[in-house]
Amino acid sequence: MLPQYKRVLLKLSGESLKSPNSTEPFDPKIIEQYAFDIKAITDLGVQVAVVIGAGNIYRGMNEAESGIERAHGDYMGMLATVINGMAMQAMLEKIGVFTRLQSALQMDQVAEPYIRRRAIRHLEKHRVVIFGAGTGNPYFTTDTGASLRAIEVKADVILKGTRVDGVYTADPEKDKSATKYSKISYKECLDKNLKIMDATAFTLCMEHKMPIIVFNMNKSGNLLRVVEGRNVGTKVY
Ligand code: UDP
Repeated sequence: MLPQYKRVLLKLSGESLKSPNSTEPFDPKIIEQYAFDIKAITDLGVQVAVVIGAGNIYRGMNEAESGIERAHGDYMGMLATVINGMAMQAMLEKIGVFTRLQSALQMDQVAEPYIRRRAIRHLEKHRVVIFGAGTGNPYFTTDTGASLRAIEVKADVILKGTRVDGVYTADPEKDKSATKYSKISYKECLDKNLKIMDATAFTLCMEHKMPIIVFNMNKSGNLLRVVEGRNVGTKVY
């Protein structure tokens, strides 16, 4: 089947890189599966940008709990996203996918600086571009970083890889009667108070008509199915 999208931005949470039963930040098997799934869509000619969170290593948000000033902790969180980006980069390169890591915070020895036009050029050359360090600013999230970068590089869609199959009427882990939406409008999400992304990230997508597909990234082959336009996950439009 022909891919339905020319350029996609894949958003993965930091947590998704770790095994749920382990305290280790990375599960190489999971990262390898993600790398092969990404390769499968690049092999079809789809241009891929990736944003990864940092929840497996550090989140800066909670000053009361950590005793670390919010902005300071947020920078720590942003640095952690670069570590995750490097892990993903290593695995992709290992299986023969060309990549570039661009960081919103300067880190010349390990990543290029984020330069929008250069990122687009890499994508055109079919290199997977991993965007590290979120937006580069504290008080934001990597979901917002993902929305911003997707809009900037004119991606067709944000693919939000999660551990659940999509957006449900209620939390499927708590409510067995919950059903999955195959598509839902931004407005309906707001009216029903469904949390797809944080408010800043969601508003950016809504204002710029950037569709989001929420899908289960842990099922190998799902990323390909989404890109082929099959009925996988939930499309927010
Ligand atoms: N962060 C930030 N600005 C950004 C992106 C991230 O300050 O633009 C920090 C923030 O502390 C956040 C952490 O980096 O908690 C990790 O990102 P996030 O919580 O989005 O990761 P995820 O939940 O996707 O694993």
